[in-house]
Amino acid sequence: GNVPAQAQAQEQQHGHRPLPAVLGTDLEVPVKGGKLVRYANLDYAASAPCLEPVSAAVNAALPAYSSVHRGAGYASQLTTQRYEQARHTVRAFVGARPDDAVIFTRNTTDSTNLLARCLPQNATVVVFDTEHHASLLPWADVVRLAPPAFPGEAVRAADEALREIDGPKLLVVTAASNVTGELWPIAALAHIAHRNGARILVDAAQLVPHRRLNLTALDLDYVAFSGHKLYAPFGAGVLVGRRDWLSAGEPYLKGGGAVRAVADEIEWHEDAEPRHEAGTPNVLGAVAIAAACDALSATGWTELVREEERLIARLRAGLASVEGVHELSLWGPEHPRVGIVSFVVDGYTAREVAEALSGEYGIGVRDGKFCAHPFVRHLLGTSDGGCEDPTASAVRASIGLGTTEEHVDRLVEALRELLSR
Ligand code: PLP
Repeated sequence: GNVPAQAQAQEQQHGHRPLPAVLGTDLEVPVKGGKLVRYANLDYAASAPCLEPVSAAVNAALPAYSSVHRGAGYASQLTTQRYEQARHTVRAFVGARPDDAVIFTRNTTDSTNLLARCLPQNATVVVFDTEHHASLLPWADVVRLAPPAFPGEAVRAADEALREIDGPKLLVVTAASNVTGELWPIAALAHIAHRNGARILVDAAQLVPHRRLNLTALDLDYVAFSGHKLYAPFGAGVLVGRRDWLSAGEPYLKGGGAVRAVADEIEWHEDAEPRHEAGTPNVLGAVAIAAACDALSATGWTELVREEERLIARLRAGLASVEGVHELSLWGPEHPRVGIVSFVVDGYTAREVAEALSGEYGIGVRDGKFCAHPFVRHLLGTSDGGCEDPTASAVRASIGLGTTEEHVDRLVEALRELLSR
């Protein structure tokens, strides 16, 4: 759309690019005693609120939609155009190579599972135990590496593991941890993967809402992310990357759209996109993702990153100032991270903290193991980690566009109060 042009014009006017607004910032929620307070959403890493330009793009697509790729009617043609334009936008957003496949999926989990189904026979996957379950679990033949003590150790361990493997191999790694927010050395890992004849899949679910990603510059083979963490509503995600495995892999879903011809023989599409996108796709989900990509690209990232870093530094300094609150990190407090911080609170289970923050202060955070059980266990030094074990959990606060100092300060003060009881 015209978002980039608008942003440019505003930048010229005001000397900086405006950051897009999110919906729901005036939401009021009931707290103990029946009072209504302004909701402080500090749970962006689970699902980020919808950006205004995303909402506008979806609304604009609603009045004339129809199924894609099949109809001759105007609405179908327009919808097909919007869907394919969304693919194009996503391609540009992640800096994909011209011949990379861009497949719309349901979410990151769907993307990793799709790739898992398309790995060549006898492929081995190497993955760290720090991964989200979406990147940890889909693989049939997998080597799991212990959480590395420092970034260089991650590169060394991956190198060693990949060197031992014959045949096709894939290294799977997150770009930013959903537990600690810490950034992983994906460029170095891509380099080491390629030196060992392996490919790399980067789980960018927690990176793309916070940082520019360029698949070509970083020399990544595959990237996966979800719309709902990128300020677009639920239901759509993407897998971007090299075509060959995807074109050879068994169609992910079997049905209309994935076939060229059905007679005695079935002739599947070799093009990765139709091959794996059988059935009527989530066009509005794709439109929403594309609008989010456009809106984020239009910010130019500088101001977005600066503002987020300011707020996360404020939050972390605040947490550090409260005695009894302990931040979790794999590589130490100085290691760069996105707007995510997990912590534990002395004398309280994570569930108790999260419930008090919500029920008494109107603050939304997440508690638990964040679908990264081995990693959270490692960070907490616990050997258990059954889902119901209250001592094996942490609290996670996560921020993004729309987060204010007031949200951050409220969390810190609420924790201070909680601990002074
Ligand atoms: N990978 C990371 C790093 C995540 O934070 C998440 C989100 O929970 C996922 C993968 C899975 O995303 P989704 O639930 O959208 O499939």
